[in-house]
Amino acid sequence: MNVFFKRQYLRKKLRQWYHLHKRDLPWRKTLDPYKIWTSEIMLQQTQVATVIPYYQKWVKTFPKLETFAKAPLSKVLKLWAGLGYYRRARMFHKAAQYVKKNLGGKIPGKMEELRKLPGIGRYTAGAIASIAYNETVPVLDGNVIRILTRIFGISQNIDRPATIGKLWKIAETLLPKKNPGDFNQALMELGATLCFSLNPECSRCPVRTSCIAHKKRREIFYPVRSKREKYEKILMTALVVQNKKLEVFIEKQPEQGRWGGLWMFPFWTRKEDMLRASSKICCQLRHFLTLQHAFTKYRIRLEVYRGDFKKKGIQRRRNWRWISIRTLKDLAIPSPHRKIAEKLSLENSLESGLFSPKKTASVNNF
Ligand code: SF4
Repeated sequence: MNVFFKRQYLRKKLRQWYHLHKRDLPWRKTLDPYKIWTSEIMLQQTQVATVIPYYQKWVKTFPKLETFAKAPLSKVLKLWAGLGYYRRARMFHKAAQYVKKNLGGKIPGKMEELRKLPGIGRYTAGAIASIAYNETVPVLDGNVIRILTRIFGISQNIDRPATIGKLWKIAETLLPKKNPGDFNQALMELGATLCFSLNPECSRCPVRTSCIAHKKRREIFYPVRSKREKYEKILMTALVVQNKKLEVFIEKQPEQGRWGGLWMFPFWTRKEDMLRASSKICCQLRHFLTLQHAFTKYRIRLEVYRGDFKKKGIQRRRNWRWISIRTLKDLAIPSPHRKIAEKLSLENSLESGLFSPKKTASVNNF
């Protein structure tokens, strides 16, 4: 099949298949650019099933860009808590504030304009512009890279910028003028539901007859990439200090860091440092739980200790607060510290069946 006919064939088959088989996802029921933007930011590095409840709660809480832009960052992070990669939420908030202040609340309709906003890269800009505004611009994410390298049998290493450039070009030439957003979504959908990395379901694929990797029975060898970096294992230690009023120490992270604005239990990378700090502020130190957490190329093992507060030797730290265990759920806490909070809350609710601690405790200056 020559290139022209192959393109025509792929467009037709993919769009037909998409209309018949697309999943019923809440962000597919709207063309509102703000809602599409929300879903695209949430879906970066996060599974669809995880995103759905967050998306639904988000559009209920912030139905319009204006309401989102006006909201304090603490409320935004609280709603985002658990989705991970908090930088996405902070940049999204910044971009929404920019749109409200400088563009009269109107989200730009052109990909090139969208790309100027904080946190919006070429892929996200392409998705919003093509889906919400019908602009004929391509998308290229991990799913689309996998499909295109397989269909076109591209065996150059995708870690090379030149290969990615070539794939963008292919994605662009494939795009139909009519309903480019649907075509982009069809590609994403195929990658998410059939063209899996390890076990692609080629027998159900609408474009299998023109897929080079499938013809050669070498699907899983595409895309080609450099040997993957090994995961870096990191051991961390966190400390839960509890007082007699059923309150625990919790610390707000500096705005600039990865966890900026979020609340976390005090933590250290070296256990010795935790032991030194804990000897000054608490007694009866004991192991509480072990948590595993995957973050980009890191595999974090978090050992959590727990101790009872003693007043002697205490030093004031600016961002540390006492907060009652029962109100921990109201704070924006990232995983896996949220798991610590959940375990404490569960324990607390079980114990409160035996006695009733003060109900008024909330965040107190330390
Ligand atoms: S035939 Fe298989 S490898 Fe090729 S695009 Fe379809 S699912 Fe992917």
